[in-house]
Amino acid sequence: MTEQAPTKVDMEKIVSLCQRRGFIFPSSEIYGGLSSCWDYGPLGVELKRNIKQAWWQAEVQERDDMVGLDASILMHPQTWEASGHLKGFSDPLVECKSCHLRWRADELAGSSCPSCSGELTEPRLFNLMFKTFMGPIEEEASVVYLRPETAQGMFVNFQNVLDTTRKRLPFGIAQIGKAFRNEITTGNFIFRSREFEQMEIEFFVKPGSDKEWFDYWLEERFNWYVKLGIKKGNLKLRQHMKRELAHYAKDCYDIEYLFPMGWAELEGIANRGDFDLVQHAKYSGKSLTYFDEETKEHVIPYIIEPSAGVDRSALAFLCDAYDEDIAEGELRVLLHLHPTLAPIKAAVLPLSRRDKLVALAKQIYTDLRQCWMVSYDDAQSIGRRYRRQDEIGTPFCITVDFQSLEDEQVTIRERDSMNQIRLPISALKTTLQAKLEGEDLFVLPPGGKIWKEGE
Ligand code: ATP
Repeated sequence: MTEQAPTKVDMEKIVSLCQRRGFIFPSSEIYGGLSSCWDYGPLGVELKRNIKQAWWQAEVQERDDMVGLDASILMHPQTWEASGHLKGFSDPLVECKSCHLRWRADELAGSSCPSCSGELTEPRLFNLMFKTFMGPIEEEASVVYLRPETAQGMFVNFQNVLDTTRKRLPFGIAQIGKAFRNEITTGNFIFRSREFEQMEIEFFVKPGSDKEWFDYWLEERFNWYVKLGIKKGNLKLRQHMKRELAHYAKDCYDIEYLFPMGWAELEGIANRGDFDLVQHAKYSGKSLTYFDEETKEHVIPYIIEPSAGVDRSALAFLCDAYDEDIAEGELRVLLHLHPTLAPIKAAVLPLSRRDKLVALAKQIYTDLRQCWMVSYDDAQSIGRRYRRQDEIGTPFCITVDFQSLEDEQVTIRERDSMNQIRLPISALKTTLQAKLEGEDLFVLPPGGKIWKEGE
């Protein structure tokens, strides 16, 4: 039986679980780690892939008005002049005169230097772009930048996409990829790092319909998180104040999540007006317009941009899923991850290591792994094995016991309720498929029995 214990999600618990179970490690840890860089381990890489896949499926695969792109990270340096990043992509940096720690002035607003209360220098603007050199000579002419956002790749390919796909307005370009920002202060685990991944959409609309599409995307993106299991109460939309708006934005909302350190941005949704296409047309000398068949006029589309972070989403999904309860008199740590996101969908657990049982369990495992990431575990007691799977968010455990050899049935146990049912091996794959898509597994079959683990 389980009793509910109040669960406090703090960052330490999340970091510890991630490291202990192989979700996320500090980068180059054997050398002492590299500040604010992280490596996704065997389970983390699956979680991240699942987040990206769920986003791609919802925003590209299942839509007629969206196409994908994978642009190069290094772009022509003029891109960043046109976009305003070279001039304006900076944060105000202040330094403590006694301890020499550096901070973002806007994040310190109102408080003194957090570590030693020393006097701070006047803020000076610090550009967040990472610079490097293209080719063998390190000179001004060969400077290129690691992109600080994926967005520009979509603006500069607007005409290519238009010409090759023959899309009509409104339509969007979607892209997932790495971005780099030399942030002044990092921290809160993977929330703010210097290398991260974004999932961005640039949605091109007719001027005048931008407000309507802006509202549409606010709702669509908010609901995406809810559909994937984030509790509604832990999400909110926050409109940017006028002084917060980026130079290109007409309007902007953040989707915020209640992280352990408080409410913070998960995704930004901006109405960028025609700023980007106007700028790139001006700097490149190329026409970046759209011919409207109805009015027979060339128009410059407005752009709505929903811009999400893969790493911040991963952190939000992990925090939201984290739970503890008491099962069989012991503390049980579990992740209520949505089946779509769970790194491992099912674990096959033979009750003993006897040959015949192992052969059947391996056969089931081989069959299921053609469809999903499935794990096989025959070490230690069955209770321990269930706990290991609960802790990494595996929705289903399949237990193969001696009776299975006779009746060709196995037990499926569900992570959250710990309910178990027995069903024919022949029905396992289709049942699992349906359950992973959200059907209730524990509808009692005729003559069937549902019981709790431990009963
Ligand atoms: P912040 O105000 O937190 O610095 P931002 O407003 O600069 O973020 P955007 O430029 O809107 O962020 O980037 C879009 C998304 O990319 C963010 O909502 C976030 O999910 C992600 N992101 C931005 N910077 C980082 C970072 N340093 N580390 C991890 N994710 C980031």
